Amino acid sequence: MKKNDLVTLSVTGMSAEGNGVGRAENTVVFVPGAAVGDLLSVRIVKVLKNYCFGKIAEILTPSDSRQQPDCPVSSKCGGCAFCHLSYAAECAVKQQRVQDCIQRIAGLPVQVSPIIAATRIQQYRNKAQYPVGTDAQGRLIAGFYALHSHRIVQCPRCRLLPPEFDQIRDAVLAFAAKQGISAYDEAAQTGLLRHIYIRKGFVTGQIMVCLVINGKSLPGADRLAQYLLQVCGDIRTVVINHNTADTNVILGDRYTVLYGDGVITDRLAGVDVRISPGSFYQVNRDMAERLYQIAAAFACPDGKTVLDLYCGAGTIGLSMAARAKRIIGVETVKSAVKDARANAIRNGIENADFYCDTALHAAQTLGIAPDIVLLDPPRKGAGEQLVSVIAGSFQPERVVYVSCDPATLARDLKLFCQQGYVVQAVQPVDLFPRTAHVETVVLMSKTEK
Ligand code: SAH
Repeated sequence: MKKNDLVTLSVTGMSAEGNGVGRAENTVVFVPGAAVGDLLSVRIVKVLKNYCFGKIAEILTPSDSRQQPDCPVSSKCGGCAFCHLSYAAECAVKQQRVQDCIQRIAGLPVQVSPIIAATRIQQYRNKAQYPVGTDAQGRLIAGFYALHSHRIVQCPRCRLLPPEFDQIRDAVLAFAAKQGISAYDEAAQTGLLRHIYIRKGFVTGQIMVCLVINGKSLPGADRLAQYLLQVCGDIRTVVINHNTADTNVILGDRYTVLYGDGVITDRLAGVDVRISPGSFYQVNRDMAERLYQIAAAFACPDGKTVLDLYCGAGTIGLSMAARAKRIIGVETVKSAVKDARANAIRNGIENADFYCDTALHAAQTLGIAPDIVLLDPPRKGAGEQLVSVIAGSFQPERVVYVSCDPATLARDLKLFCQQGYVVQAVQPVDLFPRTAHVETVVLMSKTEK
């Protein structure tokens, strides 16, 4: 098979990234925007050693699970993978993905519970980080990256975000243009404005606007907040983040608060939460609440000492604090730990302590004996060393693992099972409708000796 070949492909599966998968001339072909059951004419665009990438040239017979995408840039923007599927079909794909990882990677004969579908599949995200660039005419633009690229795709109305985010983004761009502010150029490492970062507390309505800049100051900074407040009265704080590093990481370490307290608040799972711009906060508040309910039902924290690893602003642990004997949270991001401590105080919680440390180092050194371990790591998972400390040294009654990557989850579950734990329940929850991401919460318990 070579580039530009036209092949007929029957789509039989979906990849982790949400591409359709089929076989042509004995080669695996990945096709974005395809659906299981499609018969396609596919143009080969990239040939690698063991597989190819193709582009749909023509849909010969459409899958029953197809629908018309409601977003005009869905095939260009790297954000959504499943706009062309019915939501039921999307849930089935995610269910299968988790089940496949549990079987193939973890090697466990465990039946995955039916995925909990999202209550809404539009306007569920409370956070946007728009990269800023320029168009062919040199005008400032902001949008989302195309898949596997840093090319900016403009998306005037992202279906996943609240509409006021569009107005704020456009107001920032208009303000920046008036001030003669330049867009950051990644290749040359020149220019000022890198990202427009907006976050909203869906319960409180409070909005944070954070501009990430490659420099010390923003021209017109003293007028920015007033300008933005004319567009959206719900803005509670406006912040500058300084990031002068040559990096893909969006946020730098330093902030300048231009307006408000530099934080917003929200309410999640019975907890009043304060969130700083650098702190992780689940992007889908409503479904995060469902996730935390399941985590609590799995953990049964009543009267127990609970270790909450990768705790962010402390939200999972704090939501269980009233039932638990003690909560110990661990998180590497300083501002998140500060938020977690402040959140305990805001909510009158006196049995929670938070440590700024890596999960592994804290587990090795804190000298604690938790009854229950909760862990909610980033995509790369917990890893062998941490699993060994938890399963080998702590030996808690139960482990509740919240994961945003089924593959690393399955890898870690296998390790837990080799070290005396048994998987009791695997529950996928759809926190990220229309995208290929899926969240899973797993209950493990210690096997009887
Ligand atoms: N449990 C939280 C946050 C989960 S996101 C919630 O539900 O909101 C994962 C968190 O792990 C992030 O806050 C990230 O900063 C933190 N983190 C990343 N690597 C870490 C490590 N090695 N040790 C501890 N925390 C880490």
